[in-house]
Amino acid sequence: MNIEDKIKEKYPYLLSDQVARIGCGKGWHKIVLEVCEKIKYYGAKIEQIKEKFGSLRIYVDHHNCSRILLKSVDGRKDGVKVDPNVPGAEVLIQFHDNARKPSICCYLPESDKFVDIHGKEIEVIDPEFVKGRLAQLTGLVDAEPRTEETLSEVIAWAEKEADITCEGCGTKENVTRGGDWIKVLCDKCRSKKRWYDEDED
Ligand SMILES: [Zn+2]
Repeated sequence: MNIEDKIKEKYPYLLSDQVARIGCGKGWHKIVLEVCEKIKYYGAKIEQIKEKFGSLRIYVDHHNCSRILLKSVDGRKDGVKVDPNVPGAEVLIQFHDNARKPSICCYLPESDKFVDIHGKEIEVIDPEFVKGRLAQLTGLVDAEPRTEETLSEVIAWAEKEADITCEGCGTKENVTRGGDWIKVLCDKCRSKKRWYDEDED
């Protein structure tokens, strides 16, 4: 099974649809899989993973939670002003959730529910993160914003790890950075020159 299918099978929400392939040698696949494991609950989408100038690059899109418009849905209204003329009107915050599709979702702070634009209850991947983000954006939600530093830390860790790991075979022995194309490779892989196109195990 190739790395892309492996990730899709184990973490169905993690790869963005635009990721056709993981653009690095198989020596780094273990690092990539570890990144997936570490960030699986963050509600993030991996936009791109590739090798560039001998470094591992991972681009991640986080929940893009933003209030998008004021609109009444099924008797509920977005924002601070709830129309007192709508019976049972409840505060509703609309937002984009990139981790889902991306799609427009709504959160009802009073009943602590996520609903789609038709008012049907839905599940979001990382509700606590979304609530924290919406709390920051609106002040209407009672939740602690979660720091996103951890996500950048995971990516920074992966990039550092790749710097000392052979992109061809994954060893950390006799690894150097250099060559005609700048690559992080061990002596063996550097000398055999066929490291990049080798098939998956
Ligand atoms: Zn190697």
